[in-house]
Amino acid sequence: MDVSLGMPTVRGAADGDSPDAAARLRARSAAATRAHLDDRAGDAPTAPGLHDRFGRRGTDLRISLTDKCNLRCTYCMPAEGMDWMPQSSLLTADEVVRLVDIAVTVHGVRDLRLTGGEPLIRPDLEDIVAGVRAHHPDLPIALTTNGIGLTRRAQTLADAGLTRINVSLDTIDPDTYRTLARRDRLSDVLDGIDAALAAGLHPVKLNAVLMRGVNDDQAPDLLAFALARGVRLRFIEQMPLDGDHGWTREGMVTAAEVRARLAQHWDLAPDQAPRDGAPAELWRITSRTTPPRDLGTVGVIASVTEPFCSACTRTRITAEGRVRSCLFSHEEFDLAAALRSGESDESVARLWQQAMWLKPAAHGMDAPGLDSEDYVQPERSMSAIGG
Ligand code: SAM
Ligand code: SF4
Repeated sequence: MDVSLGMPTVRGAADGDSPDAAARLRARSAAATRAHLDDRAGDAPTAPGLHDRFGRRGTDLRISLTDKCNLRCTYCMPAEGMDWMPQSSLLTADEVVRLVDIAVTVHGVRDLRLTGGEPLIRPDLEDIVAGVRAHHPDLPIALTTNGIGLTRRAQTLADAGLTRINVSLDTIDPDTYRTLARRDRLSDVLDGIDAALAAGLHPVKLNAVLMRGVNDDQAPDLLAFALARGVRLRFIEQMPLDGDHGWTREGMVTAAEVRARLAQHWDLAPDQAPRDGAPAELWRITSRTTPPRDLGTVGVIASVTEPFCSACTRTRITAEGRVRSCLFSHEEFDLAAALRSGESDESVARLWQQAMWLKPAAHGMDAPGLDSEDYVQPERSMSAIGG
């Protein structure tokens, strides 16, 4: 796959390439990345840390493990026609472990989330978690998953050292699930949530995206389900990162609408705990019973209408081992080529630091505004970036 993404175009290794050809292509990509970053970010500070030009620091690492998925959620992937990353380009378990090690020991990264595509598709997911855990006994390791296959793997993942889990669940109605995810798998997901709870992966969080005219009336049902199961629900505003390029501002269900729908059934008040750069704004939920009961919290992630870019602590690595400093970036920088060309940890750490120095101010641009005229949707959809 050729990916220019603002970088000089260097053909990446493809599955049919001979080992020699693949090595040559990797070396060229590593050299091009270094030259490009030296040119544009040679002035990035060398003191440890993934700092950017706007005073933010990347301490929260998200690594995508694959661009493939067994669902086709309408807000994320097209029904068909995805151009998959070559298998040989995906980071191996050892490479993921090495990158996490560099991030934590050199740059002071404090949190790791494994995502995708669907990370449970990787048969070596337990090896990845165990490998990271062996080096970093106290690092929180989280997983974002659609929950399919979790029934069989929640316990092995917990045993390998996984700390917590987010399961995506947009509806508890089987027909709506089939419409949204384009697959009939709701019961697998619900069983997976139970398995995660049984494996002690606390807190289990649910991620829900509401789509107008599809599941926007189901917010209270989802919250009632989450409260009954003892899991924490977070609603995420739909972002223009869908493979179909069908997002519209009018079609998007806003955080304010979500709160208004929930407020028809419960009393909501802002949670007083410090937000600490977390994307979700938390609301305390109180029942309308006598006496009223505190039922916990619900999160609302308002990436579009109430952006939090100025407090962003994210650094992202795609499944092919490229740094993406922002979800909405138009550029990626190839760390895997450096890893595979025999470069030292120090050298890889410096590339990462330079790539993060170029992190845009907001939403891949100079100013926030996913609904502004200046916003250009990235070439990659959410599943290929790593959500
Ligand atoms: N397959 C896994 C899953 O669904 O949880 C992990 C990858 S998925 C890309 C990560 C998260 O991104 C999910 O919670 C999903 O709901 C969310 N997501 C995907 N596309 C989105 C979009 N266009 N806007 C907002 N959230 C989105
Ligand atoms: Fe797959 Fe997750 Fe995207 Fe749904 S949101 S299509 S489960 S990657």
